[in-house]
Amino acid sequence: MSTTTNAADAADRYWLRHAITIAHRSAPVPSAYCVGAVLVSRTSTILPRASDAITPPDAPTNQIVLATGFSRELPGNTHAEEVCLLKLPVGTDLAGCTMYTTMEPCSTRLSGRPSCTGRVLDAKVPRVVMGIVEPADLFVKCTGADTLRERGVEVVHIQGLEEECWAPNRHLRERYDDGRNGAPRDSGAAADA
Ligand SMILES: [Zn+2]
Repeated sequence: MSTTTNAADAADRYWLRHAITIAHRSAPVPSAYCVGAVLVSRTSTILPRASDAITPPDAPTNQIVLATGFSRELPGNTHAEEVCLLKLPVGTDLAGCTMYTTMEPCSTRLSGRPSCTGRVLDAKVPRVVMGIVEPADLFVKCTGADTLRERGVEVVHIQGLEEECWAPNRHLRERYDDGRNGAPRDSGAAADA
């Protein structure tokens, strides 16, 4: 799992913090993470937006929220990035958009539902910014960031907001040695992370 940090600007940190705020809306469950995501357009093109999309008044200039999502926001044990994309019309041109997510997009789902990595690729989101990598072996092995990079998506892993990204996941903390990206003590639970 690569954790290379690419160029991130102040706007990236702003939007990742926004995604963290959204992640706190997730209802904790023992079998999955609480993640927040926001899909942002930096282009001047008028794009469809989710009906509940709100661009904060202090947002970076000319950057617009197309959709937000948090874990289990929509029925069906949905994931944050998945929710963002489900809120937009199929086929929306997302060139110039960035998906901000508090945690690396999943690559495998025990439920068999499409992964967020697959959905990001299908939607042709060209850039993903994330706050933490998915912990190895807590639920499933995640290769989301590597897969996205291999398929030409720019993946930026912002450093320094790990604690904030983990905060909505306190319910899982006892399963970790250090509460962050350390080795989990227990990886036996069935889940759909
Ligand atoms: Zn996912």
